[in-house]
Amino acid sequence: METRFKEVTRQSIVETPKTKQKYVFSFHEGDGKNKQLLGGKGANLCEMTQIGLNVPPGFVISTEACMSYLSGNKQLPADTMEQVLEHMKEVEAATGKKFGDPTDPLLVSVRSGSALSMPGMMDTILNLGLNKETLHGLIQQTRNERFGYDAYRRFIQLFGKVALGVPDEVFDKIFEEVKHKAGVKIDIGLSAENLKEISERFLLAVKDYTQKPFPENVYEQLEIAIKAVFNSWTGKRAVDYRREFNITPDLANGTAVNIVAMVFGNMGNDSATGVGFTRDPGTGENVMFGEYLVNAQGEDVVAGIRTPKAVHLLAEEMPDLHKQLEDLRDKLESHYKEVQDFEFTIEKGILYCLQTRNGKMNAAAMVRTSVEMVQQGLLTKEEALFRIKPSTIEQLLHPRLGAHDQEPLAQGLPASPGAASGQCVFDADRAEFLGHAGQKVILVREETKPEDIHGFFAAQGILTSRGGKTSHAAVVARGMGKPCVAGAEGIKVDVKLRQATIGDKTLYEGDFITIDGGTGYVYKGVIPTVESEFSNELKTLLTWADEASTLKVMANADTPDGAAKALQFGAVGIGLCRTERMFNASDRLPIVVEMIIANTDHEREEALKQLLPIQKQDFKEILTTMAPHPVTIRLLDPPIHEFLPSEEELKEELQHLRHLKETASGVSNLFSSLHLLHAENLELKNVLPFNGKGVELIELAISKKESILKKAHELHEVNPMLGHRGVRLGLTYPEIYKMQIQAILEAAAECQKEGIDVHPEIMVPQVCTAEELKQVKVYVDEVAKTVEAAYGIRPRFEFGTMIEVVRACMEADELAKEADFFSFGTNDLTQAAFSFSREDAENKFLPFYAEKNILHDNPFEIIDRNGVGKLMKIAVEWGRKTKPGLKIGICGEHGGQPDSIKFCHELGLNYVSCSGPRVPVARLAAAHAKLGEAVDKAL
Ligand code: PEP
Ligand code: MG
Repeated sequence: METRFKEVTRQSIVETPKTKQKYVFSFHEGDGKNKQLLGGKGANLCEMTQIGLNVPPGFVISTEACMSYLSGNKQLPADTMEQVLEHMKEVEAATGKKFGDPTDPLLVSVRSGSALSMPGMMDTILNLGLNKETLHGLIQQTRNERFGYDAYRRFIQLFGKVALGVPDEVFDKIFEEVKHKAGVKIDIGLSAENLKEISERFLLAVKDYTQKPFPENVYEQLEIAIKAVFNSWTGKRAVDYRREFNITPDLANGTAVNIVAMVFGNMGNDSATGVGFTRDPGTGENVMFGEYLVNAQGEDVVAGIRTPKAVHLLAEEMPDLHKQLEDLRDKLESHYKEVQDFEFTIEKGILYCLQTRNGKMNAAAMVRTSVEMVQQGLLTKEEALFRIKPSTIEQLLHPRLGAHDQEPLAQGLPASPGAASGQCVFDADRAEFLGHAGQKVILVREETKPEDIHGFFAAQGILTSRGGKTSHAAVVARGMGKPCVAGAEGIKVDVKLRQATIGDKTLYEGDFITIDGGTGYVYKGVIPTVESEFSNELKTLLTWADEASTLKVMANADTPDGAAKALQFGAVGIGLCRTERMFNASDRLPIVVEMIIANTDHEREEALKQLLPIQKQDFKEILTTMAPHPVTIRLLDPPIHEFLPSEEELKEELQHLRHLKETASGVSNLFSSLHLLHAENLELKNVLPFNGKGVELIELAISKKESILKKAHELHEVNPMLGHRGVRLGLTYPEIYKMQIQAILEAAAECQKEGIDVHPEIMVPQVCTAEELKQVKVYVDEVAKTVEAAYGIRPRFEFGTMIEVVRACMEADELAKEADFFSFGTNDLTQAAFSFSREDAENKFLPFYAEKNILHDNPFEIIDRNGVGKLMKIAVEWGRKTKPGLKIGICGEHGGQPDSIKFCHELGLNYVSCSGPRVPVARLAAAHAKLGEAVDKAL
C-alpha cells in the first residue's frame, strides 16, 4: 500500500521509562480494545493502524491524563508534554516533515474522543501548527496559495473558538463582510486574496477579544489545544449530554485527545474525501456504498454545498484508488466482522482511512447482512443471531408509512405496530357496515369493549382516546395484527354527532385519517404505506434461532385465520385461544344474549344448542390448521354481562324506541334508527320495510330490550375484574362450560376420525383453588365419555389451568395434581400482584412513576421480576415438585416481550405464547436467552 509516511517499527516506538506513568500511546502500541483508556476514536485508530490500514500517523493522550488534569487544578500531569513531544518526533519521522518547520511544516488535528460516542459534544481543532511562517512553507509545498490561506483561516477560527473562547459570531461577521465585499455567494467562490484578508482580520479579532496576540509558537498551540479538549469534557454541552443519556463515569470517564497528522482531500484533482459503507445500509446488499467529492474537505461533504458523487463513479475517475477502496472495505469487514461506516481521504493519489465504526442499518438490511455474512464464513450463526435486537424484527412484520412530510394531527401511545389509512367511524356497527361494503375504515372510539369486536374485524386500524398499551383495544388489535394508537387524549369523540374534535379541528365520519401504531402518530388524509415482507433471509435467520433455543414459541389466536397467520410467523402451536372472542362475532352475539337472558334452564340449553355446532366448527378449523401442533383453548373467561350493552346504552335505546312508538313517524324514520338496535334486530331490519307492521315490531324490540336491561341490572357487579367470571362462572352456570368442552372434544374426535393429528388442550381461567379444577375435570371426564360413546373413539386432549391469581401460585403444588399443564396469565397476575387496574395505571400514574423512578418499567409490558416474577418462581418450583415434567408456559402479553422472554427462559418454562406478529420477535428473543447463558456465565 502506498503511503507518504514511513513505516514505524516496534523498535522506533518511544519507550516511556518504567517508573513514569504512561499517558501517551502511539497508534502502533495503544490497545485497540481499551476504549476506557484511549476513548473510542483513539482505540479505533490504534486498531486500524495495527491491522495495516493506511491511517495517518498519530498518538493518543489517555483519559487518565484528562481526569488527572481536571482534578488537579488544570495542570497537565507531570511529563505529559514531554511524552507528547517525544511522540511528535515519531510522527515527524513517519511523515518526513517537522512541526513548525517554515519550509515543509507538519500539521496535525487535535480531536476529542471518550469511551462512548458523544457526537458533537466536545471539540476538535484542525490544521494545528500553522503560523505566519509555516503558512508560507505550506503554500510553497502545495504551490497553492488559496489552499494555504483556506487552511489558515479555518485553523484560526477553530483554535480561536475552542482554545481561546472567541465566539463564533466574531468570525462569522468578518467572513460575511469579506464575502459581501467580494460579491461572492458561496465559500468556494472566495479567492486566495479574500482568504488572506479573512485570516488577517481573524488574527486581529482574536487579539482584540483576548487582549493577547494569537500564539505563533506551534508547541504552545499544541499544549493550549490539548488543555482545551480536556476542558470540553466539563463544558455545558457535554455535561448536559451525559446527564440526558445517563452516561455515568463507569461508562465513560474523561476524554482522550487524538493527535493525528493532517491529510488533505482538497489538494487538487488527484485528491478527494468521502464516506463509505461496506454494504448498502438501506438493503444490506453486499456492495460498497458511499459518496465522495473531488478536491474537497470532509466539512464540504457534511455542509452539503456541493453534491457528492456515488462511490462507484470513482471507478471511472480514479480506477486504481477505487480498487484500493474495495480492498479497504474487505479488510475492514474481515477484521471487524461487522458492516463498517468509514471515512476516507485521498491526498495526491494516496488513500487514507480516517475513521471506522459499526454501520447503522434498518431492520431489513440487518437481517440480510446477518445471513449473508454467515454464508460467507464471516460470522457464526450464533454471532449473526446476537447481532440483531429482537425488537428490531418487529419493523419487518407490519406495513409502515412511506416517506412523507405531513404534520401529525394528534399523538397517542404506539399500542400495536403497523400503519393504516381509512375513513373515521365512531361505532363498531358502522365500521362493520362500511367494512362489508368494501370501505377501508379506522374505528375511532373513546375506548373499546368486547362488544366492539365486529368493528375490529372490519377496520384497518383502531384509534382510542383513552387506555394504554395493554388496554382492550391494544391487546385485541395486537392479537389481530392490526395497527392501534391508544390513549390519544387530545381527541374528543362524540359518538352521537359522529365526529371527533382535536383542538379546533373536527373529524367527521367518512374523513380519511392515517394512524401509525409504531409511533403513535395520527395524520389527516391518506399517507401511502409500504407493505411488510417475510423475506427468505428472515426465514433462514429464524430457523437458526429455533435451532439455538430451548423455549418454544406459540401464538395467541382466536380464529382459523389467526391460526394460519401464526403458522406463517413460525408458531409451533396456539398457547391461548380466547373463546369469548368467538362469542362476540355478530352471528353469535344474539344467541349469546339469548343464553344470558334465559329465564329457565331449558331456555338456556336451547340457546347453547345453537352455539354448540358453531363453536365446534371453529375448533375443528383451528385444530386442523395447527395440526399436529397443540391448541390451548381457554373456557369462557369474562363476566357474562360484558356481552350485554351497558345499562346506560339500553336505557337510551329504550327511550328512543318508546318515542318512536308514540310518534309512529313512519317506516323510513324507523328504519334509519335501527342502527341503534343491537344485533338481535338485524332480522327485523330485513322485514321491516315490507310488512308495514312497524308498531308491533317496535313493541317486540321494546320488550326484548326490557329483558336485557333487567338482566344487565341483575348482573351488575361492583368490581367485575374480581367478580363473577372465569371458573366461578363456569361452575355456577355449568351448562356453558359443558357446551364448550363438548364442542372441543367432538371437534377433536371428528378430526381424529378423519385422520388429522390434532392436539387440543382445555384450559380453565381464573382458578384459585384445586377444588375448582377438580370440579371442571369432572365435567370434562363426563363429556369425554359421552363423546367416546357417540364417536367410537376416545378424543385426545390435555387439561390444564391458567395461573393468573396470586393464590394459584401459592397452591401450585395442589393444582399440579389436577393439571397436565400451567399457563401463566401475567396480565391478570400483574394486576393482582400490584392491585393496579392496568388501564387506570397506564393512563393515570405509571408515566409519573417512571419519570420519578418509583417504578422504572411498566410492569404490564415487562415482567416485574421482583414481585410477579417471584410468584411465578414459586409456582414453577411447587408445580414441578408435584409433577416433575409439568409443562409450563406463559400466555400474558409479556410472552412477546424480549426481556420477559429471557426471564421465562431462566425460570425453565417450556413455551411462551404471544400475538402472531410478535412470534418472530419472540423466536429471536428465545434464541438470545439461550445463547446469552454462556455470555452471562463468562461474566
Ligand atoms: C392474562 O391474564 O394474562 C391472560 C392471558 O388473560 P386475559 O388477558 O384474557 O385476561
Ligand atoms: Mg386473564
